[in-house]
Amino acid sequence: MAKERAFPALSRRRFLRASFALAAASFFAPLPLAARPRPKFSGYPFTLGVASGSPWDTGVVLWTRLAPDPLNGGGVGKEAIEVQWEIARDAGFRSVARKGVAIAAADRAHAVHIDVEGLEPGRGYFYRFMAGDEASPVGRTRTAPSPGKGDERLRFAVASCQQYEQGWYGAYRHMLADEPDLVVFLGDYIYESSWGRDHVRKHASPEPYALDDYRNRYAQYKSDEDLKRMHAAAPWLYTWDDHEVDNDYANDRGEDLLPNFLERRAAAYRACFEHLPLRRAMLPAGPDMRLHERYKWGGLAQFDVLDDRQYRSHQVCPKANRGGSNTVGASCAARLDPALTMLGAGQEKWLADGLAASGARWNVIAQQTLMAQAGRGKDEALYWTDGWDGYPAARRRLLESVTASNARNPVVLGGDVHATFVADLRLDFERPDTPVVATEFCGTSITSQGPDAKRVAQMLERNPHIHFANGSKRGYLLMDVTAQRMETKLRAIETVKRHDAGIETLASWIVEDGKAGAKAA
Ligand code: FE
Ligand code: CA
Repeated sequence: MAKERAFPALSRRRFLRASFALAAASFFAPLPLAARPRPKFSGYPFTLGVASGSPWDTGVVLWTRLAPDPLNGGGVGKEAIEVQWEIARDAGFRSVARKGVAIAAADRAHAVHIDVEGLEPGRGYFYRFMAGDEASPVGRTRTAPSPGKGDERLRFAVASCQQYEQGWYGAYRHMLADEPDLVVFLGDYIYESSWGRDHVRKHASPEPYALDDYRNRYAQYKSDEDLKRMHAAAPWLYTWDDHEVDNDYANDRGEDLLPNFLERRAAAYRACFEHLPLRRAMLPAGPDMRLHERYKWGGLAQFDVLDDRQYRSHQVCPKANRGGSNTVGASCAARLDPALTMLGAGQEKWLADGLAASGARWNVIAQQTLMAQAGRGKDEALYWTDGWDGYPAARRRLLESVTASNARNPVVLGGDVHATFVADLRLDFERPDTPVVATEFCGTSITSQGPDAKRVAQMLERNPHIHFANGSKRGYLLMDVTAQRMETKLRAIETVKRHDAGIETLASWIVEDGKAGAKAA
């Protein structure tokens, strides 16, 4: 009963409700929240942990979801439930900076998203949630610094592609020990399908199509202890790729060309929002969800986080009666169509404007997939149409807008391909004599299996602007940024088949201020 004493008003409310429930129901429907009963859960409700994300200088998003039975719809029922939240300057919550009450509602899977305002720039905080008699684990987060104050350095990690069945999330255990200020996640947070070799665990349900199925899939991924700990340790920036919905989907077209794809997309986007620390303004409306957003780390870095799935043109030259990707040569003339878009016209302009207006020292374009041209094949170059190689005119427009913007130190981050690439980005990849426009680091995967070594070797050989390629290692990027330079460590885990696997740094790369292109450290 100790917790009852901490909230004495609730006992009184319970008494009042018992006395006047009938009257209240008829005269004051719906029941005011203050009169709602103290919830009782069938089990511990914070099974999916806590998370924070999308930080700005005076605030951050806090997230949790009540789910005592996470793999079976959550287990809370239809009731709306009051969730108290607190964010404090100290781990003991003696110095609380902000607190409040949020409503966890059934139509949002009892997830809560708090856009906390009024915090101090560039400092660490602790946060927690309470519902009924239960308290969540304590999370740690931080606000972005303001320009010139606390923005001397930034350490962030880059992750993507965490197929649950193919491995344990040991990479997050090592990332936790690396203590990044920020985690940038670049897509394939869940996988809709079961694939790959040598599974260490299994999806609990078949491929999702409807909202409840996607919710259960997210819940299973989020039940992983290493993933939960990394969410609780630092704020995340997030964008999705294809597997949050369907392999290789493009805009309104799925891989298997099923009708009503947008209904599936709506369900998937909604479940995605419900499970990540995204700003409340991103709440999807039907199949539409505005995910691309700009984040600043003082004057040191600007992150333009892109969405290259929702607005893109359909992939060109698909296989017969299929959507999705193909691998094509020169016979696919449509690949060069200047009308093709990856971001959509609105997002292209938004990015160009944002880069032009940026005063940041480092301009990080965080997006889904490998941007460098990466044709492979023995004789004729073959291109994979789901990546930027399927949209070369759109890539050129993006790189032209980077050039035109004069944005300082543009760096592109990518994921998706389950292999690490370090590359120079040029307007014309066929002309190595032209200037390097931006530096690219494409991370590998947390667990998802990579391409075969022969293919990766071909890509490296055919493309002189690619300095490094490795498809055999899983892991993440660890990036240390100061005004003078950006150092990128390629962190590679020994194996994803064991919980206690070790980590190594495969290589380190340096980008110096004012000089596009990476150099081996
Ligand atoms: Fe992936
Ligand atoms: Ca992908």
